[in-house]
Amino acid sequence: MLVDSHCHIDFSDFHHDRATVLHQAASAGVKQIVVPGITSRYWSRVLSLTGEFCGVKLYPALGLHPFFLTEHKKSDIDLLDQYLKHFQGQVRAVGEIGLDFARKTDKDAQLEYFEAQLDLAEKYQLPVILHVVKAHEQVLAILKQRPGLAGIVHSYSGSAAQAKQYIKQGFLLGVGGVITWPKSDKKRDMFAKLPLESLVLETDSPDMSPANIKGERNTPDQVVTVLDALAAVRPESADEIAKTTTDNANQLLGLGQVCLL
Ligand SMILES: [Zn+2]
Repeated sequence: MLVDSHCHIDFSDFHHDRATVLHQAASAGVKQIVVPGITSRYWSRVLSLTGEFCGVKLYPALGLHPFFLTEHKKSDIDLLDQYLKHFQGQVRAVGEIGLDFARKTDKDAQLEYFEAQLDLAEKYQLPVILHVVKAHEQVLAILKQRPGLAGIVHSYSGSAAQAKQYIKQGFLLGVGGVITWPKSDKKRDMFAKLPLESLVLETDSPDMSPANIKGERNTPDQVVTVLDALAAVRPESADEIAKTTTDNANQLLGLGQVCLL
């Protein structure tokens, strides 16, 4: 069994064939999918996709994504607080949140939303799903001040040295379609050497398509492609990688636990 630890199955890209996509994922062995929210507008849709659909269990995360900074309002933080309180036990993480310094938006505002959401993760004792682009040093410095936090650095793009610091902080690193791209030799080499207990698989569908479907919409069944690419460079078998990465995600996000609501 496999987990897609990061999949935007709620996006309109899937409105016309979501059931088919989920059936295909289930047939490929991808039986659990984590669906992160990106703006407050998306949260109710993400929550409506909680539960079992077409043989796949969907788990919501709620957050304000730094890429969409201009869509967020200060009042969204209070709203997120209310959502997390009301849907306790159902929401598995605060995400996706983080810093994206490749964007030409206000860095201070990004930091403000990020810190406020980390406060909420601590308040509700939830893991976080991080989107970090060109800001790993800043994020690591912030996490060092918050030793109680754990989570996933999704689509991990930092160095091997930074990876070790995240792991020390109790974070897992998301491996996705990038590992299949021809130019990703350095990344493959890094993921080959990191401890398997610190990795989770993801697709980031509909984005980050692996090389075999370049330019097309990405789908959660492609976790298998990511798994095969990782197995090609690691000492463990594909079965062992599947089992360990699934266990890693389950343990962090409590996916095995039944929702109390
Ligand atoms: Zn994402």
